[in-house]
Amino acid sequence: MTLYLKYRPQKISELDLKLVRERLEKMLDSGKDLPHAWLFSGSRGTGKTSAARILAKAINCKRDKRGKGDKGGNYEPCNECETCKSVTEGSAADVIEIDAASNRGIDEIRELRERVGLAPMQAKFKVYIIDEAHMLTNEAANALLKTLEEPPAHSIFILCTTEAEKLPETVRSRCAEVKFAKPSVEEIVEKLEKVAKAEGFKVQESGLKEIAKAARGSFRDAIKLLEQVILDGGDVGKVIDSTDPVEFLEMSTDIALKFVGDLVEKGVNLRGFVEKCVEVLREKLLETRDVSLITKIEGLERAYERMKTSAVVQLPLEIFVIENFNGGVIPTEAKAERRDLLSEPKAKVKEKERDSSTSLGMTNRGGDKLDQVISHWAEVMAKVKPMNHSVEALLRSTRPVDFDGRDLVLEAFYEFHKKQLESERCRVIVEQAVGEVMGGGGIVLKMQLSGSRLRQGSGEPKDDELVKAAEEIFR
Ligand SMILES: [Zn+2]
Repeated sequence: MTLYLKYRPQKISELDLKLVRERLEKMLDSGKDLPHAWLFSGSRGTGKTSAARILAKAINCKRDKRGKGDKGGNYEPCNECETCKSVTEGSAADVIEIDAASNRGIDEIRELRERVGLAPMQAKFKVYIIDEAHMLTNEAANALLKTLEEPPAHSIFILCTTEAEKLPETVRSRCAEVKFAKPSVEEIVEKLEKVAKAEGFKVQESGLKEIAKAARGSFRDAIKLLEQVILDGGDVGKVIDSTDPVEFLEMSTDIALKFVGDLVEKGVNLRGFVEKCVEVLREKLLETRDVSLITKIEGLERAYERMKTSAVVQLPLEIFVIENFNGGVIPTEAKAERRDLLSEPKAKVKEKERDSSTSLGMTNRGGDKLDQVISHWAEVMAKVKPMNHSVEALLRSTRPVDFDGRDLVLEAFYEFHKKQLESERCRVIVEQAVGEVMGGGGIVLKMQLSGSRLRQGSGEPKDDELVKAAEEIFR
């Protein structure tokens, strides 16, 4: 048996989410009539189905002297009587679980209206647990609604769903909704501690925290990961790597570029990382049908393919980041680092860091006006793009280093880019766009080559890298 099943909560007091636990305790302890229709809503792995079964047991438990709850009332299931046991085993005749996502589920709902009039066989109430309730077809939802409008006295419905907003409002409004909020890292750690302790296994709290974070709000995933760690002899680092694609995909351009650089430093398998990113986006795409994700997925697929042959393994991923992430201008620091990663052996990075930090001083020369143009740089790029796509691509590989309201100095990293942008055709476009965005004409574009590269003769990029960069830009 998997640890998740082994340590599935069996009583109200064992429910992992504090708010859910307290809500159910309160309702059960009040002694009032319980609702005939419940809606358990919340993301996957938060314990909705487990809670539904516990509720079914609590309602139907046969034992006279039932388990005393934390609130004092005798509302906990005993987990020993026939009814409790059969629910735990999933064999209870009067607790019916329907998976609304399956074809069978649709048939079952259709039949439900006829069957629902029948009295329970052994238990006090017939409990219908409907999983993935948002997947009900209109027809099935209507059938269910008719039943909910006049529920037979001996029936209880528990609808579980990850997407309550997709349920018809008419159905939703007839249910007592219990929200299963995503657990905090602390709540997951608490659960992991319980499981690890019961298994006689010691994991450091920092390790549990890492597992909890990687589980992204799912108790189920967290326990699966813990199980993997236990099987692997306790090495958390081996099972969980710190490369969370979800976090990465939400980063701004500059942070993402730095992150990619860090991955390379750490020796992480970049193609494996891209695979994880694609998987996450695919999940999201199937869930939301958000077409804007398709560009990103295709971009990643392209990067994945190119990484096989790229001279600089991370370059395709970096290009993907620049093309797809938000953030406009890449701050000088990230860009300096990126430049290092792009063209130079690692041994030189240290030396270059010192070098580029001196050139950073130039950034302040233009003061406020430069800051303004930097903060509006994304707008400038957006203006240039419809005018000329390749000029926009060229601009991506430059950064503004000085601006006094008239003269704008852009730094290029390659002579080739500098020359292109200095041509009349490109210059006019950039000057016009900057003028429009900054609210004034008469802009004069001046290009300069990255200082550090000039000073360090050996730092010239190899020809094949230049060709590659050009190909990427003018593809
Ligand atoms: Zn019982």
